[in-house]
Amino acid sequence: MAIELRILGRHQIDDHKVGFSYNGVAFGQNTLHTFAGLNAVDTREYVEATFACLREHGQQCARMGAYKPRTSPYSFQGMGKECLPWVFELAGKYDIRVISMEVTREAHVDEINEALEITGRPTGVMLQIGTRNTQNFELLKAVGRQHEFPILLKRGFGITLDESLMAAEYCASEGNTKIVFGLRGMKTNFGDPHRNLVDFAHVPVVHRLTRMPVCVDPSHSVGARGASPDGILDIFHVAAQGVIAGANMLLVDMHPEPRKSLVDAAQAISLSELSYFLEDVAIAREAYLRRLALTERVTQSAENTQQQRAA
Ligand code: PEP
Ligand code: MN
Repeated sequence: MAIELRILGRHQIDDHKVGFSYNGVAFGQNTLHTFAGLNAVDTREYVEATFACLREHGQQCARMGAYKPRTSPYSFQGMGKECLPWVFELAGKYDIRVISMEVTREAHVDEINEALEITGRPTGVMLQIGTRNTQNFELLKAVGRQHEFPILLKRGFGITLDESLMAAEYCASEGNTKIVFGLRGMKTNFGDPHRNLVDFAHVPVVHRLTRMPVCVDPSHSVGARGASPDGILDIFHVAAQGVIAGANMLLVDMHPEPRKSLVDAAQAISLSELSYFLEDVAIAREAYLRRLALTERVTQSAENTQQQRAA
Protein backbone atom coordinates (compact mmCIF):
# COMPACT_ATOMS: atom_id res chain seq x y z
CA MET A 1 0.00 0.00 0.00
CA ALA A 2 1.75 3.09 -1.21
CA ILE A 3 -0.92 5.67 -0.62
CA GLU A 4 -0.09 8.79 1.26
CA LEU A 5 -2.08 8.96 4.47
CA ARG A 6 -0.03 11.75 6.04
CA ILE A 7 -2.38 12.28 8.96
CA LEU A 8 -4.46 9.14 9.36
CA GLY A 9 -1.81 6.59 8.43
CA ARG A 10 0.34 4.70 10.91
CA HIS A 11 3.93 5.80 10.54
CA GLN A 12 7.29 4.64 11.79
CA ILE A 13 7.61 7.57 14.17
CA ASP A 14 4.10 7.62 15.49
CA ASP A 15 3.26 10.66 17.53
CA HIS A 16 -0.35 11.02 16.42
CA LYS A 17 -2.80 9.50 18.82
CA VAL A 18 -5.39 6.89 18.01
CA GLY A 19 -9.02 7.71 18.70
CA PHE A 20 -10.87 10.63 20.22
CA SER A 21 -13.49 11.49 22.76
CA TYR A 22 -16.78 13.24 21.96
CA ASN A 23 -19.57 14.33 24.29
CA GLY A 24 -18.31 11.98 26.98
CA VAL A 25 -17.97 8.93 24.73
CA ALA A 26 -14.52 7.55 23.86
CA PHE A 27 -13.86 6.14 20.39
CA GLY A 28 -10.70 4.19 19.64
CA GLN A 29 -9.40 0.99 18.11
CA ASN A 30 -10.05 -0.78 21.43
CA THR A 31 -13.57 0.41 22.19
CA LEU A 32 -16.97 -0.83 20.97
CA HIS A 33 -20.24 1.10 20.71
CA THR A 34 -23.52 0.07 19.12
CA PHE A 35 -25.51 2.72 17.22
CA ALA A 36 -28.95 1.20 16.68
CA GLY A 37 -31.93 3.21 15.56
CA LEU A 38 -34.07 4.51 12.76
CA ASN A 39 -32.73 4.40 9.23
CA ALA A 40 -35.04 7.34 8.59
CA VAL A 41 -36.83 9.52 11.14
CA ASP A 42 -40.60 9.22 10.65
CA THR A 43 -42.84 9.86 13.66
CA ARG A 44 -42.20 11.34 17.09
CA GLU A 45 -43.71 8.21 18.68
CA TYR A 46 -41.30 5.87 16.89
CA VAL A 47 -38.31 8.08 17.67
CA GLU A 48 -39.25 8.26 21.35
CA ALA A 49 -39.91 4.52 21.60
CA THR A 50 -36.51 3.87 19.99
CA PHE A 51 -34.58 6.15 22.36
CA ALA A 52 -36.47 4.78 25.37
CA CYS A 53 -35.57 1.24 24.36
CA LEU A 54 -31.93 2.17 23.87
CA ARG A 55 -31.71 3.73 27.30
CA GLU A 56 -33.45 0.77 28.88
CA HIS A 57 -30.60 -1.33 27.49
CA GLY A 58 -27.87 1.02 28.67
CA GLN A 59 -27.10 2.48 25.25
CA GLN A 60 -25.72 6.02 24.83
CA CYS A 61 -25.55 6.08 21.05
CA ALA A 62 -28.13 5.88 18.26
CA ARG A 63 -28.61 6.24 14.53
CA MET A 64 -31.25 8.60 13.09
CA GLY A 65 -31.50 9.58 9.43
CA ALA A 66 -33.02 12.97 8.62
CA TYR A 67 -31.52 13.51 5.16
CA LYS A 68 -31.84 10.43 2.98
CA PRO A 69 -30.01 10.10 -0.34
CA ARG A 70 -32.33 7.82 -2.30
CA THR A 71 -31.86 5.93 -5.54
CA SER A 72 -35.21 7.18 -6.81
CA PRO A 73 -36.32 10.83 -6.71
CA TYR A 74 -39.84 9.53 -6.03
CA SER A 75 -38.86 7.78 -2.79
CA PHE A 76 -39.16 9.38 0.66
CA GLN A 77 -36.24 11.82 0.96
CA GLY A 78 -36.18 12.09 4.75
CA MET A 79 -37.87 14.64 7.04
CA GLY A 80 -34.98 17.08 6.80
CA LYS A 81 -34.31 19.89 9.24
CA GLU A 82 -37.88 20.14 10.54
CA CYS A 83 -37.47 17.03 12.67
CA LEU A 84 -34.11 17.98 14.17
CA PRO A 85 -35.24 19.99 17.25
CA TRP A 86 -37.61 17.34 18.54
CA VAL A 87 -35.28 14.47 17.66
CA PHE A 88 -32.49 16.14 19.65
CA GLU A 89 -34.78 16.99 22.58
CA LEU A 90 -36.01 13.40 22.77
CA ALA A 91 -32.42 12.14 22.59
CA GLY A 92 -31.55 14.33 25.56
CA LYS A 93 -34.58 13.10 27.49
CA TYR A 94 -33.24 9.54 27.22
CA ASP A 95 -29.54 10.37 27.80
CA ILE A 96 -28.45 9.59 24.25
CA ARG A 97 -25.06 11.25 23.87
CA VAL A 98 -24.17 10.65 20.21
CA ILE A 99 -26.48 10.30 17.20
CA SER A 100 -25.05 9.19 13.87
CA MET A 101 -26.83 11.25 11.20
CA GLU A 102 -26.06 11.40 7.50
CA VAL A 103 -25.44 14.77 5.85
CA THR A 104 -25.36 15.18 2.08
CA ARG A 105 -24.42 18.85 1.84
CA GLU A 106 -22.63 21.44 3.93
CA ALA A 107 -25.86 23.29 4.77
CA HIS A 108 -27.04 20.22 6.70
CA VAL A 109 -24.16 20.67 9.15
CA ASP A 110 -25.32 24.23 9.84
CA GLU A 111 -28.92 23.05 10.24
CA ILE A 112 -27.81 20.42 12.77
CA ASN A 113 -25.74 22.98 14.65
CA GLU A 114 -28.64 25.47 14.76
CA ALA A 115 -31.10 22.83 15.98
CA LEU A 116 -28.66 21.77 18.71
CA GLU A 117 -28.19 25.41 19.69
CA ILE A 118 -31.89 26.24 20.03
CA THR A 119 -32.54 23.09 22.05
CA GLY A 120 -29.62 23.68 24.44
CA ARG A 121 -27.33 20.97 23.07
CA PRO A 122 -29.14 18.03 24.71
CA THR A 123 -27.16 15.47 22.67
CA GLY A 124 -24.25 15.17 20.22
CA VAL A 125 -24.10 14.29 16.54
CA MET A 126 -21.64 12.25 14.50
CA LEU A 127 -21.82 13.41 10.88
CA GLN A 128 -22.28 10.42 8.62
CA ILE A 129 -20.94 10.58 5.06
CA GLY A 130 -22.83 7.98 3.06
CA THR A 131 -21.34 5.53 0.62
CA ARG A 132 -22.75 7.55 -2.30
CA ASN A 133 -20.82 10.61 -1.13
CA THR A 134 -17.46 9.06 -0.22
CA GLN A 135 -15.84 10.97 -3.08
CA ASN A 136 -17.87 14.16 -2.78
CA PHE A 137 -14.66 16.05 -2.09
CA GLU A 138 -16.25 19.41 -1.33
CA LEU A 139 -18.49 17.76 1.26
CA LEU A 140 -15.49 15.93 2.75
CA LYS A 141 -13.57 19.19 3.04
CA ALA A 142 -16.59 20.91 4.57
CA VAL A 143 -17.08 18.33 7.34
CA GLY A 144 -13.31 18.37 7.87
CA ARG A 145 -13.26 22.18 8.26
CA GLN A 146 -15.59 22.09 11.24
CA HIS A 147 -13.95 20.59 14.27
CA GLU A 148 -16.91 20.15 16.57
CA PHE A 149 -18.63 17.07 15.20
CA PRO A 150 -16.87 13.75 14.62
CA ILE A 151 -17.32 12.04 11.27
CA LEU A 152 -18.43 8.55 10.28
CA LEU A 153 -16.98 8.15 6.78
CA LYS A 154 -18.54 5.22 5.01
CA ARG A 155 -16.49 3.35 2.47
CA GLY A 156 -17.52 3.92 -1.14
CA PHE A 157 -19.38 0.83 -2.37
CA GLY A 158 -17.72 0.82 -5.80
CA ILE A 159 -14.20 2.14 -5.26
CA THR A 160 -10.99 0.67 -3.85
CA LEU A 161 -10.14 0.64 -0.16
CA ASP A 162 -7.26 3.04 -0.85
CA GLU A 163 -9.63 5.50 -2.49
CA SER A 164 -11.98 5.39 0.50
CA LEU A 165 -9.07 5.81 2.93
CA MET A 166 -7.97 8.85 0.91
CA ALA A 167 -11.50 10.23 1.28
CA ALA A 168 -11.05 10.03 5.06
CA GLU A 169 -7.69 11.77 4.67
CA TYR A 170 -9.51 14.62 2.86
CA CYS A 171 -11.51 15.28 6.05
CA ALA A 172 -8.39 15.01 8.21
CA SER A 173 -6.42 17.34 5.91
CA GLU A 174 -8.87 20.10 6.84
CA GLY A 175 -8.10 19.65 10.54
CA ASN A 176 -10.77 17.25 11.81
CA THR A 177 -9.21 13.92 12.77
CA LYS A 178 -12.22 12.66 14.75
CA ILE A 179 -13.07 10.12 12.07
CA VAL A 180 -14.53 6.63 12.23
CA PHE A 181 -14.14 4.55 9.07
CA GLY A 182 -17.27 2.59 8.13
CA LEU A 183 -17.51 -0.74 6.30
CA ARG A 184 -20.96 -1.39 4.81
CA GLY A 185 -20.45 -3.93 2.04
CA MET A 186 -19.52 -3.56 -1.63
CA LYS A 187 -21.93 -3.37 -4.53
CA THR A 188 -21.52 -6.50 -6.64
CA ASN A 189 -23.68 -9.46 -7.57
CA PHE A 190 -21.04 -11.73 -6.03
CA GLY A 191 -22.61 -10.97 -2.66
CA ASP A 192 -26.05 -12.27 -3.69
CA PRO A 193 -28.40 -12.91 -1.98
CA HIS A 194 -27.00 -10.26 0.34
CA ARG A 195 -27.58 -6.67 -0.69
CA ASN A 196 -23.83 -6.06 -0.74
CA LEU A 197 -20.70 -8.20 -0.47
CA VAL A 198 -19.79 -8.16 3.23
CA ASP A 199 -16.30 -6.66 3.60
CA PHE A 200 -15.70 -7.00 7.32
CA ALA A 201 -12.43 -8.88 6.74
CA HIS A 202 -11.08 -5.36 6.25
CA VAL A 203 -11.60 -4.41 9.93
CA PRO A 204 -8.04 -5.43 10.93
CA VAL A 205 -6.65 -4.09 7.67
CA VAL A 206 -7.97 -0.58 8.36
CA HIS A 207 -6.72 -0.89 11.95
CA ARG A 208 -3.19 -1.57 10.82
CA LEU A 209 -3.11 0.95 7.97
CA THR A 210 -4.68 3.83 9.88
CA ARG A 211 -5.34 5.16 13.35
CA MET A 212 -9.11 5.23 12.80
CA PRO A 213 -11.69 3.29 14.80
CA VAL A 214 -13.66 1.03 12.43
CA CYS A 215 -17.44 0.73 12.17
CA VAL A 216 -19.35 -2.11 10.55
CA ASP A 217 -22.92 -1.79 9.26
CA PRO A 218 -24.48 -5.27 9.13
CA SER A 219 -27.86 -3.86 8.04
CA HIS A 220 -26.72 -2.27 4.80
CA SER A 221 -24.31 -5.12 4.10
CA VAL A 222 -26.92 -7.86 4.32
CA GLY A 223 -30.05 -5.86 3.52
CA ALA A 224 -32.65 -8.42 4.57
CA ARG A 225 -33.80 -10.54 7.48
CA GLY A 226 -32.83 -13.97 6.16
CA ALA A 227 -31.77 -16.56 8.73
CA SER A 228 -29.68 -19.70 8.36
CA PRO A 229 -30.89 -23.12 9.57
CA ASP A 230 -29.20 -22.40 12.93
CA GLY A 231 -31.93 -19.79 13.45
CA ILE A 232 -29.51 -16.85 13.53
CA LEU A 233 -30.25 -13.88 11.26
CA ASP A 234 -27.56 -13.15 8.65
CA ILE A 235 -27.50 -9.60 10.05
CA PHE A 236 -26.51 -11.03 13.46
CA HIS A 237 -23.96 -13.38 11.89
CA VAL A 238 -22.10 -10.64 10.04
CA ALA A 239 -22.29 -8.24 13.00
CA ALA A 240 -20.57 -10.95 15.05
CA GLN A 241 -18.00 -11.45 12.27
CA GLY A 242 -17.15 -7.74 12.40
CA VAL A 243 -16.94 -7.67 16.18
CA ILE A 244 -14.83 -10.82 16.49
CA ALA A 245 -12.39 -9.13 14.10
CA GLY A 246 -12.13 -6.12 16.42
CA ALA A 247 -14.73 -3.66 15.07
CA ASN A 248 -15.24 -0.55 17.21
CA MET A 249 -18.72 0.51 16.21
CA LEU A 250 -21.90 -1.13 14.93
CA LEU A 251 -24.48 0.80 12.91
CA VAL A 252 -27.77 -1.07 12.96
CA ASP A 253 -31.18 -0.30 11.49
CA MET A 254 -33.83 -0.80 14.17
CA HIS A 255 -37.51 0.22 14.18
CA PRO A 256 -40.48 -0.20 16.54
CA GLU A 257 -42.46 -1.65 13.62
CA PRO A 258 -39.83 -2.71 11.07
CA ARG A 259 -42.32 -3.28 8.27
CA LYS A 260 -43.52 0.31 8.59
CA SER A 261 -40.02 1.77 8.25
CA LEU A 262 -40.07 4.28 5.37
CA VAL A 263 -36.56 3.36 4.21
CA ASP A 264 -34.94 -0.10 3.97
CA ALA A 265 -37.77 -1.79 5.88
CA ALA A 266 -36.47 -5.25 4.92
CA GLN A 267 -33.27 -4.88 6.95
CA ALA A 268 -34.51 -3.42 10.25
CA ILE A 269 -34.52 -5.38 13.49
CA SER A 270 -37.29 -4.70 16.03
CA LEU A 271 -36.97 -3.12 19.47
CA SER A 272 -37.78 -6.46 21.06
CA GLU A 273 -34.72 -7.94 19.33
CA LEU A 274 -32.29 -5.37 20.77
CA SER A 275 -31.43 -7.22 23.97
CA TYR A 276 -30.83 -10.44 22.01
CA PHE A 277 -28.66 -8.53 19.52
CA LEU A 278 -26.61 -6.85 22.27
CA GLU A 279 -26.07 -10.16 24.08
CA ASP A 280 -24.95 -11.79 20.84
CA VAL A 281 -22.56 -8.88 20.19
CA ALA A 282 -21.19 -9.23 23.74
CA ILE A 283 -20.37 -12.90 23.04
CA ALA A 284 -18.45 -11.92 19.90
CA ARG A 285 -16.67 -9.11 21.75
CA GLU A 286 -15.62 -11.46 24.53
CA ALA A 287 -14.30 -13.89 21.92
CA TYR A 288 -12.28 -11.06 20.34
CA LEU A 289 -10.80 -10.09 23.71
CA ARG A 290 -9.90 -13.73 24.39
CA ARG A 291 -8.23 -13.92 20.97
CA LEU A 292 -6.24 -10.80 21.87
CA ALA A 293 -5.13 -12.33 25.18
CA LEU A 294 -4.18 -15.58 23.42
CA THR A 295 -2.09 -13.71 20.86
CA GLU A 296 -0.33 -11.72 23.58
CA ARG A 297 0.47 -14.95 25.44
CA VAL A 298 1.83 -16.68 22.33
CA THR A 299 3.88 -13.63 21.30
CA GLN A 300 5.28 -13.25 24.82
CA SER A 301 6.34 -16.86 25.10
CA ALA A 302 8.01 -16.71 21.66
CA GLU A 303 9.93 -13.63 22.81
CA ASN A 304 10.93 -15.32 26.07
CA THR A 305 12.26 -18.32 24.16
CA GLN A 306 14.30 -16.03 21.91
CA GLN A 307 15.74 -14.16 24.90
CA GLN A 308 16.69 -17.43 26.61
CA ARG A 309 18.48 -18.61 23.46
CA ALA A 310 20.38 -15.28 23.19
CA ALA A 311 21.46 -15.38 26.86
C1 PEP B 1 -27.45 4.78 5.98
O1 PEP B 1 -26.69 4.33 6.86
O2 PEP B 1 -28.56 5.26 6.23
C2 PEP B 1 -27.03 4.71 4.58
C3 PEP B 1 -27.72 5.30 3.60
O3 PEP B 1 -25.93 3.97 4.40
P1 PEP B 1 -24.98 3.83 3.11
O4 PEP B 1 -24.47 5.21 2.82
O5 PEP B 1 -23.93 2.89 3.60
O6 PEP B 1 -25.83 3.26 2.02
MN1 MN C 1 -30.12 2.85 3.16
